[in-house]
Amino acid sequence: MATELADFLPQLDRDIRAMADWGKVADYIPELARVDPAQFGIAVALADGSMVTAGDAQKRFSIQSVSKVFSLACVLGRIGEQIWTRVGREPSGSRFDSILLLELEKGRPRNPFINAGALVTTDELLTGRSPRDALSEILGFLAAATGDADIHIDKFVAQSEAETGFRNAALANYLKSFGNLKNPVDYVLGTYFHQCAIELTCEQLARAGRSIAGLPGAPRLLTPQKARRLNALMMTCGHYDGSGDFAFRVGLPGKSGVGGGILLIAPGLASIGIWSPGLNAYGNSQAGTVAAEKLARKMGWSVFG
Ligand code: GLN
Repeated sequence: MATELADFLPQLDRDIRAMADWGKVADYIPELARVDPAQFGIAVALADGSMVTAGDAQKRFSIQSVSKVFSLACVLGRIGEQIWTRVGREPSGSRFDSILLLELEKGRPRNPFINAGALVTTDELLTGRSPRDALSEILGFLAAATGDADIHIDKFVAQSEAETGFRNAALANYLKSFGNLKNPVDYVLGTYFHQCAIELTCEQLARAGRSIAGLPGAPRLLTPQKARRLNALMMTCGHYDGSGDFAFRVGLPGKSGVGGGILLIAPGLASIGIWSPGLNAYGNSQAGTVAAEKLARKMGWSVFG
């Protein structure tokens, strides 16, 4: 499998670079707006322990909403099923930052991967911890999952998120008004903005996903049951209102972020980190999604058999 991929990934890299339309980079903060969209990296961690990469796989990028997988993993490890009293497990069919359903559903977000749901997850992580300790818990999870402690938060990105995060502030205040935030709104927002500003390379992201993919030799950070559930949520909710299209085209669980990253999981087979900063209309990586589709088709990887 490693040999087949070593042949295929350079070809995929060339095909993606030949694409005319890279999508549009997120422009709500200057740090993301000035990223060159014409970049692409991919790293595949395989069950035999090997890693195959192509393109800009060693370049650090802002993981943004991909961090929601890791904060949820920490919370599942800490309180398990109890989190579902505060957040649902249904796709929202709305934009990642939508407030619409929050009123209709009385402050219980549809799922942990839209912003409202992720704010609840982060609030749970803050219970009994300072923002600094909650962030250390996520960074510690990532260090253990990747086997690499060289993982950092971009302070400028976190600062810009805070300066422009009016919608997230609205969501957090709305959640608080329904009694679905236990900690001060400022703490929750500050922690959330910093977790979004974590930087990883594609290779680190692929390594970080090995436990979720249940690869042999991966650090045992999750029970197999919890890993299955994370995969189910990634499949149904990981790409927001583009989740159905992603499942249809790629057939594997994935989680996107507005930095252009995608964590893609082929359960039992591979954990894949993809990055290309140009986004499609749903706010998911445009070229990254095409790459995921081509990779899954080439390797015959699909959770649908
Ligand atoms: N920091 C972004 C936000 O909260 C993350 C959103 C995303 O990656 N989809 O709006």
